[in-house]
Amino acid sequence: MTSQNETDKTDETWSLETRAVTAGRPPAAPDAPMNTPIVPASTFHAGGDWGYAREGSPTTAALEDALGDLEQGTAVVFSSGMAAANAVMDLLPLGAHVVAPSAAYTGVAVRLRELAEIGRIRLTIVDVDDTNAVRDAATGADLLWLESPTNPLLQVADLAACIQSAQESGSLVLVDNTFATPILQQPLTLGADLVLHSVTKALSGHSDVLLGAVIAGDPERAEQIRRRRVLLGAAPSAFDCYLALRGMRTLALRVERAQHSAQVIAPQLASHPAVSRVRYPGWGTLASIELAGGAPAADLLCERVRLWVHATSLGGVESLLERRRRWPLESDTVPENLVRLSFGIESTDDLWSDLSTALDELPAG
Ligand SMILES: *Cc1c(COP(=O)(O)O)cnc(C)c1O
Repeated sequence: MTSQNETDKTDETWSLETRAVTAGRPPAAPDAPMNTPIVPASTFHAGGDWGYAREGSPTTAALEDALGDLEQGTAVVFSSGMAAANAVMDLLPLGAHVVAPSAAYTGVAVRLRELAEIGRIRLTIVDVDDTNAVRDAATGADLLWLESPTNPLLQVADLAACIQSAQESGSLVLVDNTFATPILQQPLTLGADLVLHSVTKALSGHSDVLLGAVIAGDPERAEQIRRRRVLLGAAPSAFDCYLALRGMRTLALRVERAQHSAQVIAPQLASHPAVSRVRYPGWGTLASIELAGGAPAADLLCERVRLWVHATSLGGVESLLERRRRWPLESDTVPENLVRLSFGIESTDDLWSDLSTALDELPAG
């Protein structure tokens, strides 16, 4: 059974900011609820649109409607971003040639390497900000897996150019759009076939759920992806989908505020003596800094901040920071002294005051 779209169609001429508020609502009618209810059912009485919750359910479908609307495709929601990523990998034929970023999200990079090691796929690694290298590698590949900006090095791909040349050679293109969010970039409108999201991050925005999604431009491809969810079993819970939808209503506001803080604070970081390098593409809600005092200084910074929260993940209302190499699986292309900053929605002044106080106390390089 396919998921039924029971919700109001929002107007496609409306801006993304507006559609983040209007998408995925129940049809307007007297006494109809404003929000899609949480439907905590694994099974449904036969004879209607719903059968079994692994295939879909009303709350899950409402989130899928909203995500599909924002990314302009057909969305399938999974129990985590990694579950969504694995569903795409599972579609690859044996021996498929996959081109992937040198510093993709850790879980994705490790999983692709595992698949290459057992001979399931052939893997070519590229720097996504080297457009010619991406174009050369993607010629004749089965799948070009892009992430932009990358986590945590914040390399930016020329998405339009990479997507166009990959498709001219018949390669499928996936873009992990977790960092940019659909507010800042919509890869399907640039011709990508698939968009991946860790909905856990900015889309949900409150650090209280794990969810993922794949959005496909072609509804038939979305159906193949949905079948992976049905058969592999990584179905999301109705409660989590409800929380994600609730969070998504404020996505545009949260991204605007976080991006503002990043824009103000990144240049101040660049001129601080304790910081040897700032990686910040000039937009978006994340930045990474390298500490002149090496990994020990990076650890001290994470310990000494008071407002910034020392924790992994990103895209929440609270500003988070961490030294990425504290994770054993993180790529060694990520410097030991790199601290990733995820800007939240607190006051820009308070965020800078907290960071700069902690940085001032660090030994200079
Ligand atoms: C977090 C993240 C993922 C994985 O998502 P989970 O929801 O943690 O499984 C994938 N890609 C990027 C860019 C991420 O930041």
